[in-house]
Amino acid sequence: MMIVAKGVSKAYGRGRRSLVVLRDIDLSVPDEDFIALVGPSGSGKTTLLGLLAGLDAPTTGSISLGGARLSALTADERAAFRAEKVGFVFQTFHLLPTLTALENVMVPLELAPRGTAPRAKPRIRARELLERVGLAERARHYPAQLSGGEQQRVALARAFANRPLVLFADEPTGNLDSAAGAMVVELMEELNRESHTTIVLATHDLELAARARRVITLRDGRIESDRRNGCGGGDGLDRRPDGSNRDGAR
Ligand code: ADP
Ligand code: MG
Repeated sequence: MMIVAKGVSKAYGRGRRSLVVLRDIDLSVPDEDFIALVGPSGSGKTTLLGLLAGLDAPTTGSISLGGARLSALTADERAAFRAEKVGFVFQTFHLLPTLTALENVMVPLELAPRGTAPRAKPRIRARELLERVGLAERARHYPAQLSGGEQQRVALARAFANRPLVLFADEPTGNLDSAAGAMVVELMEELNRESHTTIVLATHDLELAARARRVITLRDGRIESDRRNGCGGGDGLDRRPDGSNRDGAR
């Protein structure tokens, strides 16, 4: 299993003022799975992604990622682990405005601990990554000179730079029009298929969620449903056998 969460809860604040935002989360994610976390705003999607990615620690319960028990790591160790094994894409891209597209993609390559996979020179690898997301021609542009969709593709290239075990994405198409969003999703599908990267994305876009292999619905901090999308043929024409959107109202 790539991710195993057991009895996970998360509360913000302490004592009477504490707000419980996740309760009793049990979740196993096999290697190479492609999961969409859906649910209304405030249901805990972002919080859960952050816990699974090791950005934050749960109040109770345990999470393991790629065989490592996150709670056994110090905050510094978690950060090092994330740099090497985890990619994260944010709704608002989070590119560094003073760096070019190429330099943004180089950042994690230069920060990563040496060792493990043989690494090409960061600049060369960053170029390949930009090419991969169709932005070779934009390498020297700054984020402000790129469209939203282009910025998100740079962010995706950056998140993928160290070939993470898992790529997390929080509303990755939330700020994009549908054409740009579709391109970002297609890239994620390709990374999942070709590089065998496990993907967990949070979205309230049901069309996007329908492209994942598995859809987990959160409601009030609990898992309300967990089901596989049908077919899984990856021909882009997957139709769900049940045809229904129980949560059409979101
Ligand atoms: P979603 O991503 O599904 O919209 P979130 O995980 O962002 O949900 O938020 C779940 C709940 O946790 C919300 O009620 C939100 O206000 C609360 N929350 C999120 N982050 C914090 C925080 N740092 N401090 C206090 N409450 C928070
Ligand atoms: Mg959110």
